[in-house]
Amino acid sequence: MDLKNIHPIDLDFKGNDLEIFSFLVESDEGPVLVETGPHSCLTTLEAGIAALGYKLTDIQHVFLSHIHLDHAGGAWCFAEHGAQIYLHPLGYKHMHNPEKLLASALMIYGDKMDSLWGTLKPIPAEQLHSVDDGQVITIGNLAFTSWHTPGHAKHHTAWQLENVLFTGDLAGIKRKEGPIIPPCPPPDIDIELWVLNIDKVLAIEEIDRYYATHGALISNPAQHMAKLKESLIAFADFIKPYYLKNIPAQEILLPFSEYVTRRLALQGMTGAQIKIFMEGGALLADIFGLLRYWSKKLS
Ligand SMILES: [Zn+2]
Repeated sequence: MDLKNIHPIDLDFKGNDLEIFSFLVESDEGPVLVETGPHSCLTTLEAGIAALGYKLTDIQHVFLSHIHLDHAGGAWCFAEHGAQIYLHPLGYKHMHNPEKLLASALMIYGDKMDSLWGTLKPIPAEQLHSVDDGQVITIGNLAFTSWHTPGHAKHHTAWQLENVLFTGDLAGIKRKEGPIIPPCPPPDIDIELWVLNIDKVLAIEEIDRYYATHGALISNPAQHMAKLKESLIAFADFIKPYYLKNIPAQEILLPFSEYVTRRLALQGMTGAQIKIFMEGGALLADIFGLLRYWSKKLS
């Protein structure tokens, strides 16, 4: 794949760079998009698309890794302009009828919902395409293969384009050359399944680089995934004794924050970067996710 046809667009989420990317890929039938980011970043995304010489309405095909709002929250806007949306079969009903997805996000984010994520509208069934594991979607000269990769979420798929894999959250969060952070939100997080699917994509010999939604280009997949596996297992192991002692999530937040801060600093992240990461509120979600993981695994 000629990498010059792939354009990462930094969505400048909450004014910070490298947080969330969308990827515009040029085909001989026009531009397609991999991930839309959240609805709240639509203006930035539109400006990024315009900087590449296209209009929002030129995007007629959108590939989603999974339906979490930081990846798929803007998809309905493209659907309103006629775009076809490709996703994992288990994500389908939530994009067609987003009430449940919206309600659970509202429960977590409350009055920050609008500023963080924006809103969601239903996507008509005829524009939503459930894609099976290994299925190929061809747009002009581009052939995207869907690799179902649950672990982070059960509706997760990674999209292969020749030697490139768009990893969604399968490859975690990357901060420049710094640490690799595993996002572990509830309700689906499953460490063994995630590791299994890391090995599944590592076994595809043709792939030699990744584009991660949180961090963009990864040019050393094997090394990257080895580090991610180590972090995933370390995060889960940290939470396990708290689960066994039935300690509530809020009381785990301080020790877990200290633990993660130490790890990130050791792995080369600056104090300012760690602060931005911590302020995102992801750690509490990770605690809830990992407690749920252990309760499912050990019950
Ligand atoms: Zn994500």
